[in-house]
Amino acid sequence: MSSVSANPLLAPWTGPHGGIVPFDRARVTDFKPALEAAMDEHLAEVELIAADAAPPGFENTILALERAGQTFRRVAAVYAVWASTLNTGAFQAVETEMEPKIAAYASKIYQHSGLFARVDAVYRSPGFAALDPVQQRLVWFHHTHFVRAGAQLDVPGKARVAAINERLATLYASFSQHLLADEAGHVLYLRHADELAGLPESIRAAAAAAAAEREHPGEWAVLNTRSSMEPFLTYSARRDLRERVWRTYYSRCDNGDAHDNKSLITEILALRAERARRLGFPTHAHWRLADSMAQTPERALELMMQVWPAAVARVHEEVRDMQKIAAADGVTIAPWDYRYYADKVRKATYALDMNAVKPYLELEQLREGMFWAAERLYGLAFTPVQGLPVAHPDMRVWGVTAAGGRHVGYWYFDPYARAGKNSGAWMSEYRTQDGINLSPPIVSNNTNFVKAPGGAPVEISWDDAVALFHEFGHALHGLCSNVPYPSLAGTNTVRDFVELPSQLNENLLLTSEVLERFARHAQSGEPMPAELVAKIKATQSFNQGFATVEYLAAALIDMKLHLAGSEAVDPDVFERETLAELGMPPQIVMRHRTPQFAHVFASDGYSAGYYSYLWAAVLDHDAFQAFLEAGGPFDPDVARRYHDEILAVGNSIDPRTAYRRFRGREPKIDALLRSRGFPLADGTTGE
Ligand SMILES: [Zn+2]
Repeated sequence: MSSVSANPLLAPWTGPHGGIVPFDRARVTDFKPALEAAMDEHLAEVELIAADAAPPGFENTILALERAGQTFRRVAAVYAVWASTLNTGAFQAVETEMEPKIAAYASKIYQHSGLFARVDAVYRSPGFAALDPVQQRLVWFHHTHFVRAGAQLDVPGKARVAAINERLATLYASFSQHLLADEAGHVLYLRHADELAGLPESIRAAAAAAAAEREHPGEWAVLNTRSSMEPFLTYSARRDLRERVWRTYYSRCDNGDAHDNKSLITEILALRAERARRLGFPTHAHWRLADSMAQTPERALELMMQVWPAAVARVHEEVRDMQKIAAADGVTIAPWDYRYYADKVRKATYALDMNAVKPYLELEQLREGMFWAAERLYGLAFTPVQGLPVAHPDMRVWGVTAAGGRHVGYWYFDPYARAGKNSGAWMSEYRTQDGINLSPPIVSNNTNFVKAPGGAPVEISWDDAVALFHEFGHALHGLCSNVPYPSLAGTNTVRDFVELPSQLNENLLLTSEVLERFARHAQSGEPMPAELVAKIKATQSFNQGFATVEYLAAALIDMKLHLAGSEAVDPDVFERETLAELGMPPQIVMRHRTPQFAHVFASDGYSAGYYSYLWAAVLDHDAFQAFLEAGGPFDPDVARRYHDEILAVGNSIDPRTAYRRFRGREPKIDALLRSRGFPLADGTTGE
C-alpha cells in the first residue's frame, strides 16, 4: 500500500531547469492515489478562488485559476505516458477506473457556478478593456472553456452533461484498449521462405526479429500495425497473403467479438449529439468547430469537397495506370493490390524504386537531420543528456538550447514499437512552457519503428521519414513557445491550426540541404546519389490520388457522423452508404475505418476534426511558398518571422491574425493543389 504522503508522483519535480519528469519513481500502484489526491488539491484551490471575498478581477480569478492544479498537471503527465506507451496489465484497470473520475473532476471545476460567476464578471467588467491583449485572450479562453463545459446550464442540465462526460471517458478508454488488443492479438506468422516472395531484405530481417521476440524463432511475423502492414502490402508478391494482411488490419475492432468497437461508437455518437444539443448547438460538429479556425462544419466540408472530386478523378487515373501492369498477372486491382502495383508503376514510369531509397533513410541520421534543420532555421541546438529518468529503456533525452546557450527545453524520443504502445506517431508535452513559474517546456516524440536485430541501424521508409519530421514540427511548436500563460502556450491551439507547424516541417526532409548531409547509406555512409534525390523530387505528386482519397474519405465520414445529429447510427451501414454516396473508388478504403478511428473515438481529440490536416495543409503549403518566394526553405528572414509570429505565440493571439502577420495576407489554396497535381480553381494545373 502506498500512502498518499509518500506518493512520489505528488512531489514537485526536482532537478535542473524547473525539474524533470520523475519516471524512475512512478509505479502503477501509485497512479490512482496520486491522481485522487491531486484532483482533491485542485478542487480545494478552486473553492478558495470561488469563495474569495474580494471582488473578482484578473489576478484573483483568472490568474489564480491559471496557477491552480499544478500537482494534477504533473501527475497527469506521467499517467498519460503510461496510458499511451505502457498500457498493459494492471495499468489498464487503473485507466478504466480513473478516466470517468477525471472527467467528473473536470466537470466539477468547469461547471462550478460560483467560480463561473467570477470568471463571467471579469469577462464582462469595464476593467476587461484595460487588460493587455494576451490577458484579454486568457480571460476569453477560460470563459469559453466554462461555457463549452456547460457552466451556464441549469442544475439538471449540468448533471446530465457531467454524466455524459464520465460515460464518454469510460467508452474512450475501452475503445483504445480494444484497438491495442486487436493490434497485439492478430500476428501473422510466416513459416516458409516462399511466403516472403517480393519482400526486401530489411523487411525480412525486421519480421524475423519480431517473430523471435514473440517466441516464434525461425519464423517471420507480420504485425497488425500500420508500420508492418504498409510495407508488406507494398512489396509482397503473394496476393493471397496481401489480402489476408489487408483484411486483418482493416477489420480491427470490427470482428463481432469482445473487442468490437461498433456498439461503443453508436453510444459515443448519441452521447456527443445529446451533449451538443444541451449546450445549444445543433450537432457535435457545430459544437466542436465553434472553437476552430474553420468555425463551422459547412466551411470545413466546403474545403473537403473542393478537393475530393479532383482526388477521386486522380485515383481513377492511377488505377488505370496500374491495371495496365496488373493485367499481365491476371489481376483486377483490389484494395490489397493498390500499394503493390503503385510501386510497380513508380518503378516503370519514374525508374524510382522506393526500396532503393530506404537504405539511405537511417533513423539516427534523419534525427540528426531534423536537429540540423532546426538549428539552421531557429538557432536551436540539441545535445544528448545522459542519466535523466525515462519510462522505458528505449527512451532517450536531449537538452535544447538557443543562441547563447540559453536552455529552451528537453526533447524526449521514444522511437520503437512495443506491447501497450499506441500505434502511429505523435508528440506530447510533458510540461507545457509555463511563463508563470518560468518552467521551460518538456516535449516528446513517439513513433513505432521496428527495432533492427542486434542493434543494427534502423532503415525507415520515406513515408515514415516524413512522419518523423511531422512530429518533430509539433515538438518545435512546443519548444519555441514564449507565452506568459500556460493555457495559451505551445500546442494548446485550435486543432485545425496545430497541424501547420508539423506539416510545414515535413518540407525540410525533401530539401537538398538535408538529404545531401543526412540521407546517407546505412552501411556505406555514402550520401544519397543526386539522381535519386532528383527522382524523389520529381515524384512528389505521384500517388496523391490514393493518399488524398484515403485521408479525405476518413475526414468526410468523421464530419458526417457528427452531423448526423440524434439519429441512432449503425457505423457499419453509415460508413458503407456514405462512401457510396460520395463515389468512393472501390480500390481504396478509409485510412482509418470507423471501428479503428482512434483520432475520433479514443477521445474528443480529433472528433469532427480530422479535416484539420487538410485545413492546415492549405496553410502549410502557402507558408512554405513564402520561404520559396524569398530565397529557399532556409531563408533566414522568413524563418525569423515564422518563428516569431507562428511558433512562439501558441494560442496567445487568434490564429487567423497570427497567420496574416506572418504571411501579410490571407492563405491561398493554390500551393496545396499544385503540389498534389490537382487542377487549380481557375482550371489550370500549374507546373
Ligand atoms: Zn500532427
